[in-house]
Amino acid sequence: MSLRVTFLGTSGAIPTTERNPAALFVSREGDDLLFDCGEGTQRQMMRYGTGFGVDHLFVTHTHGDHVLGIPGLTQTMDFNERDRPLAVHVPAGERSVAKRLLHATGTDPSFPVRVNEVRAGDVALSGDEYEVRAFDVNHRTNAVGYAVVEDDRKGRFDREKAEEELGIEPGPEYSRLHRGETVELDDGTVVQPEAVVGDPRPGRKLVYTGDTTPTGSTVDAAADADLLVHDATFTSELADRAEATAHSTAGQAGSIARQAEAKRLALVHISSRYAGDVTDHETEAREAFDGRAWVPNDGETFEVPFPDAEN
Ligand SMILES: [Zn+2]
Repeated sequence: MSLRVTFLGTSGAIPTTERNPAALFVSREGDDLLFDCGEGTQRQMMRYGTGFGVDHLFVTHTHGDHVLGIPGLTQTMDFNERDRPLAVHVPAGERSVAKRLLHATGTDPSFPVRVNEVRAGDVALSGDEYEVRAFDVNHRTNAVGYAVVEDDRKGRFDREKAEEELGIEPGPEYSRLHRGETVELDDGTVVQPEAVVGDPRPGRKLVYTGDTTPTGSTVDAAADADLLVHDATFTSELADRAEATAHSTAGQAGSIARQAEAKRLALVHISSRYAGDVTDHETEAREAFDGRAWVPNDGETFEVPFPDAEN
């Protein structure tokens, strides 16, 4: 089962010729989720082939570089005669800004749009075997991060043991046992599911901070995350500026990933002053964090592996 991330926009507040403003596209088994929608996001979606099948847009905060793509995207959806509803999730207190963006040219989209205010701890979306949860970040405005958290998966079915040791013929009993049901064989033997089914295996976790200083709430939300996508606007020589503008340095993002024991760290929201050279970002993050840390390019995709997959 695929959980695929496409980095649509990895620049900081000002775009560059290489990097578009913030947007992250997540595709999971037919569900397409968009996180933030900076200016030009719709064109990035075309360019990188994500399609427009998004039913949920999750906004971390309403600074322009994260939301100015909303009027254009919804207008194109309208031209495409969309009739499916769209949910726009925004931090509590930002409903009126979201409404203004949707109504920017004086006409509302002709398809239904629901604006949903979320607070830290809320389940913004309860999907099929996964949730999108909001968590606290610190950007000195109404802001949340989002965690995509999959349910546990069933344990592994030990087919060899079932067939050879317990003598159960392959058939419907296998699926009943795998579902956790007890099975009685023709000779009267009762087989408990635990005999052939291992412990439940954790699903995947993908965490996106949006803009933030380094916070303990991110460490909690990103505990054991398979991928953490974190603000890394600056490098350490501009730590003061990061603090003043409520952003993070690459090293701070690395430190958060280490404390959370995340497996991988993608550094985004790269300030335009570093156009063309992100070596220092990667070096600083890797000094703080042992897992894979990198600055993705716009258009790059990443398939998030299961925690128990071989790396
Ligand atoms: Zn911001």
